[in-house]
Amino acid sequence: MERIVIVGHSIAGLTCGDTLRQRGFAGELTYIGAEDVPAYPRPSLSKAALLPGAGSDIAPLPSFGEATELLGRRAVSLDTAARTVLLDDTTALPYDGLVIATGSRARRLTDSPREFTLRFLADAQVLRERLLQRPRVSIIGGGPLGMEVASGAVGLGCEVTLLNPGVPLSQHLGPLLGGILAELAAEAGVRILDTLVESVAETDTGMAVTLPSGEVLASDIVFTGIGDDPDVGWLADSGLLIDARLLVDTRQRVLGHPGIVACGDVCWIDGPDGPRRSPVWTSALEQGRIAAGGLLDGDAAPERHHPFYFWTDQWGVNLKVSGTPPREEVAPEVVEGSLEERSFIIRWPEHGAAAALDRRMPVPRLHRLAAGATPR
Ligand SMILES: Cc1cc2nc3c(=O)[nH]c(=O)nc-3n(C[C@H](O)[C@H](O)[C@H](O)COP(=O)(O)OP(=O)(O)OC[C@H]3O[C@@H](n4cnc5c(N)ncnc54)[C@H](O)[C@@H]3O)c2cc1C
Repeated sequence: MERIVIVGHSIAGLTCGDTLRQRGFAGELTYIGAEDVPAYPRPSLSKAALLPGAGSDIAPLPSFGEATELLGRRAVSLDTAARTVLLDDTTALPYDGLVIATGSRARRLTDSPREFTLRFLADAQVLRERLLQRPRVSIIGGGPLGMEVASGAVGLGCEVTLLNPGVPLSQHLGPLLGGILAELAAEAGVRILDTLVESVAETDTGMAVTLPSGEVLASDIVFTGIGDDPDVGWLADSGLLIDARLLVDTRQRVLGHPGIVACGDVCWIDGPDGPRRSPVWTSALEQGRIAAGGLLDGDAAPERHHPFYFWTDQWGVNLKVSGTPPREEVAPEVVEGSLEERSFIIRWPEHGAAAALDRRMPVPRLHRLAAGATPR
C-alpha cells in the first residue's frame, strides 16, 4: 500500500494514522480535516472551555510521524472504482487505503441563531461568548452534553432550565448515578423539568419552548443536546452505506469494501445484537488503533475488545464509569467512600460495571473492578 488517505482529523483518524506509522507504514499519509485548526480534545469543549476564566485555547492533540495535513478542506464525495476522494476545492485525491473518520454532527431543532449546539471548537467559542452575557438558557436534553453545558452555564452565572423526560442521565448511567448528578444540578440552581418538548421557535425577543402540556417557556437562548448523527453525507453516492449507515466489522473494515476502514463516531459496529454506535472518546481511540491493523493486516489483525469507558466532569465532580451500570434500581457494592457523601467507588459485579465519583481512580483499576477483580 503506497498512499493512505484519512478523512477526518480528530482522535479516531489521528490514532489510526499514528498507529500506521508506528506499525512501519512508510508510504504517503494524507489527512483531510474540515476544521481549519489542528486536532484537539473534543471533550474539553463542554468542560474546560466553559469554566469561568477559561480562554478559548485548547492544547492540540499530539501526533507522530510525517503526514500531509489538508485542514479547512472537506471531502465531498468518494469514487471507490477510481479510488479517489473528491475535495471541496475539486481536487481528486487518489488512495490505495482509505480511513473514514468523519465523526458526527449535533442534531438541532431550528435554524435560529439563538439555538446553540456543541460539536466543534467554533461552536464552543460562540456558545461561551453568549453564556458570558448571562442569558436565560433552556437546555433541551439531559444527556451528558446537556448536563455538562448546564453545569458550565450555571458556573458562568446563567439562569438554567433543563428539559428532559425522566431523570437526567439515567438512560445513560442508570438511576443511581443519574439521580446523584441530577441532585447536584438541582442544588446548583438548575430548574429540571421532567418533560418532552413539543416545539421550539424563535420569537421577537428570544426563544419559546412549547411543552406537550401547552405551557410555553420563554428564554433568551436554547441549547440543544439531543444526540448526534454520523457525518456520512459525503458518502451518499459511494455505495458504502447500508440503510444510510457505515457498517464495520470487528477489525473496523467497511463491510464489502476491501482497503477501506472506518473508526470513531462515524461508524456503526456490526454485532450479534444488531448494529450499534459507541460515540465516546476511548472507543474512538481503540477503533483508530484497530482500524490501522484492519487496513494493513486484514484477517490477521487483532479484533476490537475494548471495555466501555466513559467519564464526565460536572458540578465540580468527576465521574468515571466502566461497563454499563444497570438501568433498573440495583444496589451496588460500595468499595470505597459512601453514597451519602456522593464520593465513592462502587460496582455492580453482576453487570460487569463499576464507577468512581469524586475519587482518584486509575482507569485500568476501574476496569479490573468492573470485571470482578477483588477490590484492593
Ligand atoms: C462537547 C463534547 C463533549 C464530549 N465529552 C466526552 C466525554 O466527556 N467523554 C467521552 O468519552 N466522550 C465525550 N465526547 C465524545 C467524543 O468527543 C467523541 O466520541 C470523539 O471526539 C469521536 O472522535 P472521532 O475522531 O470519531 O470524531 P470527531 O472528534 O467528531 O472528529 C471528526 C472530524 O472529522 C471532520 N469531518 C467531518 N466531515 C468531514 C469531511 N467530509 N471531510 C473532512 N473532514 C470532515 C470534522 O470536522 C471533525 O474534525 C464528547 C463529545 C462532544 C461533542
